[in-house]
Amino acid sequence: MCAAIKAAKRGLTEGEVPIGAVVVYEDKVVACGYNRRAKLQLASAHAEMMAIDKACKKFGSWRLPEGCELYVTLEPCPMCMGASLNARVDKIYFGAYEQKGRSLTAALAEANLLNHKTEVVGGVLQDECSQLLSGFFISMRQKQKEEKERQKAESENFTQKDI
Ligand SMILES: [Zn+2]
Repeated sequence: MCAAIKAAKRGLTEGEVPIGAVVVYEDKVVACGYNRRAKLQLASAHAEMMAIDKACKKFGSWRLPEGCELYVTLEPCPMCMGASLNARVDKIYFGAYEQKGRSLTAALAEANLLNHKTEVVGGVLQDECSQLLSGFFISMRQKQKEEKERQKAESENFTQKDI
């Protein structure tokens, strides 16, 4: 999970929502990814998708070898659960829980779609993963507030000058 957190922080430096993921096989990180949705402007550019795609390329197969595990800093969305099942990931560990509890993680893990079930363990290094996200959103809101105040000040200056 530390490697996934490191990947998330890399995304943070690029102005992305900090979410990171790694694929682990035989206790080694074989692929890592981080959310790149803003940079690529792709709805599918989630950390898990990036890591799973890289792992598939590395193994030269859409079906990952038995025993592959995915570590991700935030509870996966249904798209990423679908990709994990398609790639036959055997176990998923995630950090922070999706805040509003609307994720279908457990249901999808158990649904036996594609004749494959995956085990899911949530809350791994939960505090660190959650703080990374909440810190990002707090600073984003602060920046938006400052920008609004700056624009307001500018428009007031403009009005005074006009008069
Ligand atoms: Zn996702």
